[in-house]
Amino acid sequence: MALELGLMPELVAVLAGILGLLIGSFLNVAIYRVPKMMERQWAEECAELTGTPLAPAETFNLLTPRSRCSSCGHLICWYENIPVLSYLFLRGKCSACATPYGLRYPLVEVVTGGLFFFCAWRWGWTPMTLAWCGFSAVLLALAVIDWDTTLLPDDMTLPLLWAGLIVAALQWNPAVSLPTALWGAVGGYLSLWLVYWGFKLATGKEGMGYGDFKLFAALGAWFGWPALVPMILMASVIGAIVGIAMKFSGGLREGGYVPFGPFLAGAGFTAMIFGPQSILKFAGL
Ligand SMILES: [Zn+2]
Repeated sequence: MALELGLMPELVAVLAGILGLLIGSFLNVAIYRVPKMMERQWAEECAELTGTPLAPAETFNLLTPRSRCSSCGHLICWYENIPVLSYLFLRGKCSACATPYGLRYPLVEVVTGGLFFFCAWRWGWTPMTLAWCGFSAVLLALAVIDWDTTLLPDDMTLPLLWAGLIVAALQWNPAVSLPTALWGAVGGYLSLWLVYWGFKLATGKEGMGYGDFKLFAALGAWFGWPALVPMILMASVIGAIVGIAMKFSGGLREGGYVPFGPFLAGAGFTAMIFGPQSILKFAGL
C-alpha cells in the first residue's frame, strides 16, 4: 500500500512524527483545560440543583479562548506556538514577562511525536496506525491529567473504550477479536470494581476511583482479556514502587494519594509497543 502511493515507509513515519508534535501541542491545551471545564460543569449542575443563579461565564472550551501566558496574560501568537521549536527559541520563557514555562510542554509534544513516529513505522500505511496514534494521544493526556488532578474524565475514558471495541469489530487488529475485546472490557471494569469494594469494606478507605475501572476496561477492549493480568501486574508493581519512593522522599501530596491512572497508562503503552505478553517475559514469568 505504501509503495502504491509512492510513499516511503520512512517518510510516512516522519510525517506522522511531525503530526504527533502538533497533536502534542493540542494535548497540552486539553491537559490544562479539560479538568477546568469539568469543574465549571459541576458548578453549573450544583447551581441548577440548588436554584442559585450562576454569574454568566465566558466561553471556555478546547478552542476558545486563545492561549495566554498564565502569569501575565500575554496572548500567545502563532510563532510562539510551534511545537518544541518555540520553546527552544523563547528559551522556555514568556516573551512578555519572562516567567518560565514548564518543561512539561515540549516534553508532551516530543513524547506524542515519538509515539506517532513509532506507530507509523511499526504498522505502516494501515488503519491500525491511525488507531494506535489516537489511542496513544488519549492515553497520554489521561495519564498527565490524572497525575495532576487525580481525575480521569469520562469524556476521554469512555470514547477510548468504545474506540477499542470498534477497532476489534472492524477486525483491524488481527490479535484481538470482538469477543476477546468485549470480555477484556468487562473483565477490566469488574476486576478493579471488586478490588475497590473489597478494599473499601476491609479498610474503610478508597484505594482508587471509578475512572480507573473505566480506563482499565478501555485497555481490556484494546488488548483483549488475555492482556489484563500482565497489565494490572505491571501497573500495580511499578505504582507501588513509585508510591513507596514518594513516601520516603516526602513527595506525596496531601492525603497520601498516588493516582493509579498513569501506571495503567504506562502498562498500556508497554503493551502497545512490545505486545502484552512481553510484560510477563520482562517479569520472568
Ligand atoms: Zn507572561
